[in-house]
Amino acid sequence: MPEHSRRGLLIILSSPSGAGKSTLARRLRTWDPSIRFSVSATTRAPRPGETHGVEYFFVSAQDFARMADAGDLLEHAEVFGNLYGSPKAPVLAALDQGQDVLFDIDWQGGQQIRNSVRAEDVVSIFVLPPSIAELERRLQSRGQDTSETIANRMRRSRDEISHWAEYDYVLVNTDIDRAEAQVSAIVTAERLKRSRQTGLTDRVRKLNLEFEERT
Ligand code: 5GP
Repeated sequence: MPEHSRRGLLIILSSPSGAGKSTLARRLRTWDPSIRFSVSATTRAPRPGETHGVEYFFVSAQDFARMADAGDLLEHAEVFGNLYGSPKAPVLAALDQGQDVLFDIDWQGGQQIRNSVRAEDVVSIFVLPPSIAELERRLQSRGQDTSETIANRMRRSRDEISHWAEYDYVLVNTDIDRAEAQVSAIVTAERLKRSRQTGLTDRVRKLNLEFEERT
């Protein structure tokens, strides 16, 4: 827990699917359980093992359109023919309490959040795979998708990777432990930025009072 108040971060994690982004997101939340995960709404069907409200809110296209029209989404985009979006209210509530929010979203969502009112508190991280062969191997080893879906994801990977330069940080996920250490180091450093530590003036004032009490 921070020793004084600070503004919450919007941590954006993007990568082509199969580069280990979801595992990294999970590990980051285990590293610091106070990090809130932004559970997206999506029109895609749940995969085996996925639970409504945990990985995603699985909604109909009509409900998604209603949320988007009402301005209830911080960002939204079409990915692989399905709609995905980040519900705004839980994010703003967490940020207002000084909590960090983690987004597992694509480059389109990253761009929209970087251009939002909270732009100054955005920390964006792009995860590259060590090689394209390894990316394909990881997609196949999930055993959840059809070969057509995998081929589609491989095609889209190239497009996703082309946006790497829009991110603050870029890392290569060759080893998941190393990648986790790198992501947690980024979050630690970003939290310590002077501009984000809103309680710093009070803290230093107290230190000065202590100085004065000694004289
Ligand atoms: P999947 O269907 O494999 O869970 O996710 C497909 C892609 O959609 C991933 O790149 C994931 O990061 C992205 N995605 C998930 N949720 C959102 C969201 O709320 N907004 C955007 N823009 N992309 C999302």
